[in-house]
Amino acid sequence: MTESNERPVSPPARIGVLGGGQLGRMLGLAGLPLGFEFLFLDPSADACAKVTGELLKAGFDDLEAARELAARVDVATFDFENVPEQTARALTERCALYPAPDALGAGQDRAAEKALLNSLGIDVAAYHVVSGRTDLLEGLEKLGFPAVLKTRRLGYDGKGQVVLRDPEDLERAWQKLGDHELVLEAFVPFQAECSLVAVRGRNGEIRTWPLTRNVHSNGILLLSKPGGFDEALQSEAERKMQALLDCFDYRGVLTIEFFVAEGRLLANEFAPRVHNSGHWTIDGATCSQFENHVRAITGLPLGETGMTCHSLMFNWIGEMPDRERAMAIPGLHWHDYGKSPRPGRKIGHATLTAGSAEQLEKNGRRLAEIAGGEFPELSDKLFD
Ligand code: AMP
Repeated sequence: MTESNERPVSPPARIGVLGGGQLGRMLGLAGLPLGFEFLFLDPSADACAKVTGELLKAGFDDLEAARELAARVDVATFDFENVPEQTARALTERCALYPAPDALGAGQDRAAEKALLNSLGIDVAAYHVVSGRTDLLEGLEKLGFPAVLKTRRLGYDGKGQVVLRDPEDLERAWQKLGDHELVLEAFVPFQAECSLVAVRGRNGEIRTWPLTRNVHSNGILLLSKPGGFDEALQSEAERKMQALLDCFDYRGVLTIEFFVAEGRLLANEFAPRVHNSGHWTIDGATCSQFENHVRAITGLPLGETGMTCHSLMFNWIGEMPDRERAMAIPGLHWHDYGKSPRPGRKIGHATLTAGSAEQLEKNGRRLAEIAGGEFPELSDKLFD
């Protein structure tokens, strides 16, 4: 840890956020009780974070709007990782931005991200950079089938990626993605997916929440369950996290998503922000990722990151289950983002908390039945 003479940002103070989605809203909900106010910049007049602060309606590429935001706040952050790095830099002319633009930029290009992770000793799946058809054929020669073709930029929630199972998939994949700069990855036959959410504070102090098991469907996160990994894997993840945090002199919450393959961790990607797989921390940890992010960027002491109970998070994508039936389940915490439903859109989540693993499983299966769709089957993966 490094010593700093910096004084914490004291309330009443305003925090600026680039992006006003559900992550911004949950930052607002966590920061208001600490005495902070919020100003969000977002292109949508309906940005769901606006119930927790003021909204500056502007595009993410509007440098003047970013400077205006900077002039009106004491410190700034972002809830959206595809904010152009140039906008982040314009903002830093007038106020501190955490995490810094370097960390934001590094995660925006999958090829650069993988090269950085490798250089820090954080293993990733074998990959090949693809700028044309010849590269793709070369990559397939090197990595074999199956492989995953992904856009280097702007992909999220499984968007901008295609799995290539055999040579017949090639043409379809090229039709879909061929206009972009791409990266081809070896398909990882993982036993599980997990993520580590960590926070680094003012003096370089680092705290991590327990590794969280994640279940995705079509590239979208559906369920997250913290805990249950052995200590060796937790330590390995923490070592990797520390290398990444230190390389950016990072401040705030950072998440690394991993595949667990043959008992080892392979990093898939990192997100320089609060993360969906950390939503359980609102109801299941002593201090949530949102509160700790606010604490870190304002220079306050960090909160404890331990689990207070057993917990499990369900994501509501496109539609929500029956609220009354769900809320009748003991230990259920309902989070409605106030967004209009649309297929594939994250509109809310629920966290179940319980005093024992048995209780969590019983109530988790009950909620999975109410939620329907793929939930009953996916929850089996967590309780096996
Ligand atoms: P991403 O957009 O890279 O986070 O990928 C979304 C999801 O797709 C991951 O969480 C995995 O479930 C799956 N996926 C992505 N890349 C691979 C890979 N190389 N091998 C196996 N599954 C993958």
